[in-house]
Amino acid sequence: MPPWRGSLKRGRQQRFHLLSQVHSTSPHGKAGLLSPPWWSVRSLTLSGAEVVAPSRSPIAPTELPTVADLGERALIQRITARLATPAWLVVGPGDDAAVVEPERGALDVFTTDVQVEGVHFDRRFVAPDAIGHRALAVNLSDLAAMGARPRAALLSLVLPDALDVDAIDGLVDGLLAVADAHGVAVVGGNISRSPGPLVVDVTAIGSVRRRRILTRSGARAGDGVYVTGTIGDALVGLQSLQRRADRKVRPDRNGVGADQVGPQERRYLRPEPRVRAGLALAGHRAATACMDLSDGLADAVRQIAAASRVGITIDAAALPIAGEVRRWHDGQGRDPVAASLEGGDDYELLFTSRPAHQGRLRGVQRALGSLPITRIGAVTREPRLVLKTADGLRELPGGFEHFR
Ligand SMILES: [Mg+2]
Repeated sequence: MPPWRGSLKRGRQQRFHLLSQVHSTSPHGKAGLLSPPWWSVRSLTLSGAEVVAPSRSPIAPTELPTVADLGERALIQRITARLATPAWLVVGPGDDAAVVEPERGALDVFTTDVQVEGVHFDRRFVAPDAIGHRALAVNLSDLAAMGARPRAALLSLVLPDALDVDAIDGLVDGLLAVADAHGVAVVGGNISRSPGPLVVDVTAIGSVRRRRILTRSGARAGDGVYVTGTIGDALVGLQSLQRRADRKVRPDRNGVGADQVGPQERRYLRPEPRVRAGLALAGHRAATACMDLSDGLADAVRQIAAASRVGITIDAAALPIAGEVRRWHDGQGRDPVAASLEGGDDYELLFTSRPAHQGRLRGVQRALGSLPITRIGAVTREPRLVLKTADGLRELPGGFEHFR
């Protein structure tokens, strides 16, 4: 089987092909249930993708093959058959461990992050491909924050028995789409049974030249504080998805279709790791400190300030918060600025830059095209975290008291 490449759409076709093979191998004689029209329907229900409606009615979901039906070995085969094998992968999946040739002249960068059902995602409204997308994206976001180029990933799946094989296919679709977009090879992994929630644990490996490493500790008094993109979107997306799920608004048979998913929901379900931004900041040596926004802007400001032993003042009026996000919070009587500072899952980059390096920063902005970079504050000598608002100065929300 050729290495898996290409778009999500091609991935779906591949999924179909892979599932077709189950016809002859299912130990439960369910082969006859796995006809193409049925598959199309499940694909719609699980992933919410734009797939042409089937001509036949769907069968009951209980008839689906589960991971227990297929078994560990067949599952591993099913996944590894789809993986690309770059030239620098000396020993790939199928042995006890992967062997990777390091990038010449660069240092290796390692990171790991896990997605746990019920903690990081809710399967009522996060489709399998979004779970896979998020599992890799959050790791690439950490590599981006270090200025590293992602290369490889290890995938550890801990699966409930009753999980549909279809869901695993979708999960791998989402993960490989992100991997493909960023030139990452999945070089190995593990599958284990879960007595409880679905767990997707990813280790990502990148490379960076020594001079280009970005850390949290280099901010100095006088530096400007900047953020990529917009903040607070993912929180609104999550709240919107939660509200719909709580109301038991049943998605139509197309799942949460593309037309129903607004930009904020998309930001939560499929965050785009700012790999290009991290590489551009590192390549232009434009940042003194950098961190990704997994737990909110206020948290990242606090972390950079603590690691660099400085203070930071954030200008509330400068924060890049979308109009829809402001209206959402206004509609619920909440302060949009406070909510957006505390909301997690945005996966933008927060960084500091010397005033003398405006030219370098312009180079970064040119490299990023339409992704905005916004100056939102300044680094101060006095180690205080301050939010400057129209009403005056106040403490930055979220743990500020630790640094007074
Ligand atoms: Mg991080």
